[in-house]
Amino acid sequence: MKTSFTSPRPVPEGPWRWLVPVLLVLLFLLVLLWLPWQARQMESNERQEQLIADTLWVEQTLRFELARSEEALAALGADLAIETPPPAALQARLTQMFKNGHELQRIIWYDANGQVKASRGLELPPDGLTQSSRDAAVMSRSTRLGRYSEPYGAKGLVHGLIDFHLPLYHAGKYMGSLVATYNLQTLLDENVPWWFAQDNALALLDRDDHVVAQRAAGGPGRGVYTHKRALDLPGSQIVLSTDSVKGAPKLLPNLLVGSVVVLALGLVISLVALWRHIARTIAAENALRQQMAFRTAMEDSLLTGLRARDLEGRVTYVNPAFCRIVGLPPEELLGKTPPMPYWAPEAMAEYESRFRQVLSGHATPQFETVFQRSDGVRVPVLVFEAPLVDANGQHTGWMSSILDITDRKRAEELNRQQQEKLETSARLATMGEISSMLAHELNQPLAAISSYTAGALNVLARADGAGADGAKTALDAGMLKRALEQANTQARRAGQIIRSVHEFVKKREPRRETVAIPHVVDGIRALVELQARQSYVSLVVDVPPDLPPVLADRVLIEQVLLNLTRNAIEAMQAIDPERRVLRIAAEMSEQGQVAVSVIDNGHGIAPEVAERLFSPFFSTKAEGMGMGLSICRTAIEFHGGTLTHAANPGGGTVFTFTLQQAQEAPVT
Ligand code: ADP
Repeated sequence: MKTSFTSPRPVPEGPWRWLVPVLLVLLFLLVLLWLPWQARQMESNERQEQLIADTLWVEQTLRFELARSEEALAALGADLAIETPPPAALQARLTQMFKNGHELQRIIWYDANGQVKASRGLELPPDGLTQSSRDAAVMSRSTRLGRYSEPYGAKGLVHGLIDFHLPLYHAGKYMGSLVATYNLQTLLDENVPWWFAQDNALALLDRDDHVVAQRAAGGPGRGVYTHKRALDLPGSQIVLSTDSVKGAPKLLPNLLVGSVVVLALGLVISLVALWRHIARTIAAENALRQQMAFRTAMEDSLLTGLRARDLEGRVTYVNPAFCRIVGLPPEELLGKTPPMPYWAPEAMAEYESRFRQVLSGHATPQFETVFQRSDGVRVPVLVFEAPLVDANGQHTGWMSSILDITDRKRAEELNRQQQEKLETSARLATMGEISSMLAHELNQPLAAISSYTAGALNVLARADGAGADGAKTALDAGMLKRALEQANTQARRAGQIIRSVHEFVKKREPRRETVAIPHVVDGIRALVELQARQSYVSLVVDVPPDLPPVLADRVLIEQVLLNLTRNAIEAMQAIDPERRVLRIAAEMSEQGQVAVSVIDNGHGIAPEVAERLFSPFFSTKAEGMGMGLSICRTAIEFHGGTLTHAANPGGGTVFTFTLQQAQEAPVT
């Protein structure tokens, strides 16, 4: 059934729906982990490059300083080769040179024979120049170019000094040489800027990688960022080594890794929570779908029509059974407001008054009405209304269940007709029994009428023959009047008997009217007396004339009384004729109803008979039909009263029925 509720689309089952998100999350985590590593790598490269550039710069600085000194030495050497200056002038120049660079520790001037012509600075050790220095001297002379020795130690320094040999030539002739000794430690100390020394441990290494000078203002290097560069001094293999005090970058990667781990954990936790939430949602959805399917199947299989309306009376839901009852598809009903397409024109006023009640929030919980199907056929329905309350307890409208009671009505009608037919046949059966008695009884009035009229005729004939005999004529006139009156009474009685029998048998619809019990009893009295006389039963009627009227169908009540009196007369057939008294009594009951009793002195009712007394076709009589009491009870209950029986204290039975008192004045 189409309603405003649409069922959700099924979610794909299985692990596949998780594959893509899980892969994406893994990829995300991988990228997150790779990023700090990459950042560290980049930073490390950057530092390494910086170190290389700085080292290169320091090397250039050192090289430049030594080159400057070499130049100054070369200038001095050129002068010395030409002529020997006065000692004071030489000393002044040397002093100047020592001032220019503190790394210069000593200058020795050798003549062509290897004798010291002048010297300044450090004392030459007793064993003279080192072997390496002497080798450098030889090499410099042979190549005619300045040359450095390997570094060597002096005065507490294991290594740290280096000699520079400069051969002096003049006009192609060897004139001696100048030997300058430099302190490598001072070279480092003086020429490397403090900020560089702060960040890096510097060292000068000889060809065996022994440290010959070092500077580490900021502590020892970490060995992470290092660089080596040869100073490129002719004849010497000194290498400048730098080692940064900085370790591998830590803080940033640690922070990054930490946050990645926290993020990843958060991600995994939220993913699991999401997973569980989705699983729960899916389970709830499945349960809901099951419920929906169950509800739909239930509603579709219902024979009861269901209709929901909102507070404005707009139809919000109908089930297939309702559509069948009114013969309209749901599309023509949903969203409709009154007047509804299934309202029958003749009952508009009723629908509208009910609809006004619904709008005011007071729907009638249960009522019968009639709907008009789309083909015009009227469908009697029983409607139950209940308030529709939503999940928040809010009253949102009305839910009605509608029962098609066509079949029930038809069955009721059929039942009523059958009951009527049964009553008619029972009446006819009763009539069959009494018709012979009726004929006999009618014989009496008819015979009486016949003899009265014959007497009257005789009187008339006698009057014609007698002439003018005054006294006799007056007597005859009196006799004639009496005979005619008697004949008239008997004729009326006969008519009354016939009329009441006719009324009783006549098939008619039940009709309620205000009825006075004394009149009813009077109406049937002639018939009852007829039967009573037949069985030598005397009838006593004890009905107060001021009894309040009842609301009843007169003929049905007469029928009940006739049945009860006939049963009473029959029950007294076997007893002493003096005791055969049938009494009809009436009085007000304690519940304010009118109670009518038919009392006999007959054989009474045995318990086993009492059990089945009111069952149709139960009879203890040879010719009994067994319908009388069953019909009586139906008739009395139809009037809202009861029919009961009790034993008569003086022997026999008392049948009592009650009837509702009428409010209006009796119809007489
Ligand atoms: P029927 O009179 O045709 O037998 P009823 O339904 O009128 O059918 O009565 C059923 C039975 O109830 C009778 O056969 C009789 O045995 C019993 N019965 C009815 N009225 C009395 C009564 N007043 N006294 C004793 N028995 C009675």
